[in-house]
Amino acid sequence: MSRFMSDKFAALTPYTPGEQPRERKYVKLNTNESPFPPSPIAQRLARQAAGDLQLYSDPTCRDLVAAAAEFYGVETDELLFFNGSDDAIGFAFNAFCDDQTPALFPNITYSFYPVAADFNRVPYETKPLNADFTLNVADYCGAGKTIFLANPNAPTGIALSLSEIEQIVSSNPDNVVVVDEAYVDFGAESAVCLTKQYDNLLVCQTLSKSRSLAGGRLGVAIGNKALIADLNTLKYSTNPYNVNRMTAAAGIGAFCDVEYFEKNCRAIMENRAWAEAELKALGFVMTDSKANFLFAKHPQMGGLDLYNALREQGVLVRHFETELLRDYNRITVGSREEMETLVSALKTILGVAK
Ligand code: PMP
Repeated sequence: MSRFMSDKFAALTPYTPGEQPRERKYVKLNTNESPFPPSPIAQRLARQAAGDLQLYSDPTCRDLVAAAAEFYGVETDELLFFNGSDDAIGFAFNAFCDDQTPALFPNITYSFYPVAADFNRVPYETKPLNADFTLNVADYCGAGKTIFLANPNAPTGIALSLSEIEQIVSSNPDNVVVVDEAYVDFGAESAVCLTKQYDNLLVCQTLSKSRSLAGGRLGVAIGNKALIADLNTLKYSTNPYNVNRMTAAAGIGAFCDVEYFEKNCRAIMENRAWAEAELKALGFVMTDSKANFLFAKHPQMGGLDLYNALREQGVLVRHFETELLRDYNRITVGSREEMETLVSALKTILGVAK
């Protein structure tokens, strides 16, 4: 740290993103990216937009907002785009939490939440998940705090039902509930339909996973127009041009190409079911993941040892060396071919005949 760093950030521990290695070509199952390229329409529109990069992007993202509003069935003032959904989540911590209204989220969830809370100098409380990683809905009913829930949760992949989400939202009428649906398209129920009914619900989604635009950086928040107006106040007070021209154009293509989106989501769910069955046959224990990753442990091998052994075999997964997660690894569901490589590497490591 330099001697100029403000005291307010001196104790900040930043988020650790998954590795993006360059030294070797890995089967990359560590950051929950899509194995499929962006929609051809998204690619074409982004290429066209590249020719206009001398101009600022449209701060209102008018055409993108119109395409997304149609997709979600909401009004154009009920959603707002961000530079990835991390950005949306950071804004939500900033806008809807303070000393009087701390944040609340599970002890095991997306590890960006505590970082975003600390960065925005927001106090937070965590509630432990049950031993099987399920969430106790009652912990969040009438909580009197700003609630952040990833649904499906990360890194467990376990989803709450729409009625459980509604229970939490309806029992906290005076607090914002942020539902982070980064992985919702792989088999969970979205709460976007509840945003008309509840003015305290903010749903965040990303185009990084199911729409193959992780490198484009595009996230969206959907909610009551007053909540969206609040987020807009913060956006125009920080970086009004937070979505660049090429990404906005790609986003329009991604929302319009529904067929491509649905086909890819189906493929991931099929590959997940296939890999789950193969891993089970090898003795792995897994959560019931509704996301594009598996959360798995093997009774005969520690999580870190397995992570290292897979790495040696050229397969990169995500390991969290914390007390509650160290037995497990989070494994992205990729193409069928990638899943076959994973299973073959696991058989080699476990000494199982192929
Ligand atoms: N929420 C969750 C639960 C995630 O796992 C991620 C991906 N790391 C994000 C949000 C952020 O995704 P992005 O910023 O790429 O939209």
